[in-house]
Amino acid sequence: MSANLRQELLSKARRVVVKVGTRLLTYEQGGLAPDQLERVVDQIVALRGSGREVVLVTSGAVGIGMGIFGHATKPKKLAEKQACAAVGQIRLMHAYDESFARRGVTVAQYLLTAEDFRDPERFSNIRATTDALLGHGVVPIVNENDVVATSEIKVGDNDRLSADVCHFLEADLLVILSDIDGLFTANPKSDPEASLIPIVHRVTPEIESLAGGAGSLASTGGMITKIVAARTVTESGSACVIANGFTSDLVAIASGAPQGTLFLPSEHKLGSRKRWIRFVSTPKGRLVLDAGAVQALVERRTSLLAKGVVSVEGSFPAGVVVEMTTAQGHPIARGVANFSAADMARIAGRNSSEIPAILGHSAGQEAIHRDNLFVL
Ligand code: GLU
Repeated sequence: MSANLRQELLSKARRVVVKVGTRLLTYEQGGLAPDQLERVVDQIVALRGSGREVVLVTSGAVGIGMGIFGHATKPKKLAEKQACAAVGQIRLMHAYDESFARRGVTVAQYLLTAEDFRDPERFSNIRATTDALLGHGVVPIVNENDVVATSEIKVGDNDRLSADVCHFLEADLLVILSDIDGLFTANPKSDPEASLIPIVHRVTPEIESLAGGAGSLASTGGMITKIVAARTVTESGSACVIANGFTSDLVAIASGAPQGTLFLPSEHKLGSRKRWIRFVSTPKGRLVLDAGAVQALVERRTSLLAKGVVSVEGSFPAGVVVEMTTAQGHPIARGVANFSAADMARIAGRNSSEIPAILGHSAGQEAIHRDNLFVL
């Protein structure tokens, strides 16, 4: 990709999600590093001044809390980590609020968990609130609600959280700022030959292995979670840049300057609903399809008709996301079922015209409409 194309792609980005890692905001031994936070805020304000809508996803609450409680290392006990987050978050937001206010910018706080994204109603409420705030010129600042998060409901990490935020906002660009320059061909700390990869066209298993394998970059700061975030947002049609927050310049990155690693978006930009179905929702049941239906879905992107359903697994109401698999159990699609599991089982294998007679009602011609269906 030429420098011009990079510029063209990134300078078109209107909505940008910026994720800032703990290391950018805190001292190594814990505690808020005010100069570093000022630098981040300067960059966000400048990016906003360049005409973009910016949402900030920030870590740092636990790290700041560690400083307050005098922990030299991250506590092992979940409750102790949560206590650090509870005291650290308020100090973090206080610092952001003051720093942005000095530059004339109002901020808002979101504390979210994975549950908030999985529930379609909450998901669309967050979206509507964000649109309203951005309309007021506010910079929303998002962190995980660590106090209530348990292992089951945890988004997991703020790289993943930033990808989810990028999905619900249909943002054009996700910039992940950490303390490393981007993705390298090998671990730059141990291999003098390692070089920065400027552009990744597609996140393949080989690319993932650069981040996660033995002797990899994982030790330099959780590269694998960043690559997974880059994969999900680029698959839905947003661009992603992983760059060094200490040395890079956000406005330059968003104008296409060759800083960090750029992950190119796939050609088709998915709307927020399909992104939700694909990356955020949790399937509540499973439909096994016959070969004809699999072919129609994969090759012609059709709706799913009851005729192609061989069997139904699980118990689910109408209107929830289910997974579709081949007869061999290979997952091929996800979508919102128009019928409950019980009704689906009754109409499986039957023509659409028979549905009203079988069920005494019809919730539509299709078992799953193509607008609510994502082929994996
Ligand atoms: N929510 C955590 C915090 O604010 C950060 C999680 C992460 O860094 O991925 O400290």
